[in-house]
Amino acid sequence: MKNTMQMRFLSVPDNVGLARVAIAALAGQAPFSLSDIDEIKVAVSEAVSNAIIHGYKGKPDGWVELTGTLDKLGLTIVVEDFGVGIADIEQARQPSFSSDPERMGLGFVFMESFMHGLHVESTVGKGTRVEMQR
Ligand code: ATP
Ligand code: MG
Repeated sequence: MKNTMQMRFLSVPDNVGLARVAIAALAGQAPFSLSDIDEIKVAVSEAVSNAIIHGYKGKPDGWVELTGTLDKLGLTIVVEDFGVGIADIEQARQPSFSSDPERMGLGFVFMESFMHGLHVESTVGKGTRVEMQR
């Protein structure tokens, strides 16, 4: 079965919940277990939170794009923002690295452990694209 959904929403914190519900509904069309779906929701929450908190620095007027594609290989998720970008992706992906001393620096760790592939592309001043497979 092949299916794709795409949504675009403002960088408002409440929209993390919107993204979780949408991706869970899409994943529910494939033979994922409930615990698989819980993990997929966490990974999407982390990527969307990063777009809102870091990409747009908490400003609520940026666009975040979420795309989910189901095919025979599984689920591919892309979360994209058009915000500040990441200068050093390798450093950003290190466990416990955060540019904000108040945060844990575990978002990328969750995405990596709950998904089977994680690919990050970013350009400073242009934005960030996170692609993950499950
Ligand atoms: P936590 O996710 O545990 O609350 P965190 O968000 O700082 O903390 P990660 O999600 O692992 O940790 O992200 C690591 C760092 O990568 C962030 O602190 C931030 O500097 C940078 N980063 C991640 N996503 C983005 C993004 N979309 N735009 C700009 N910077 C980002
Ligand atoms: Mg994070």
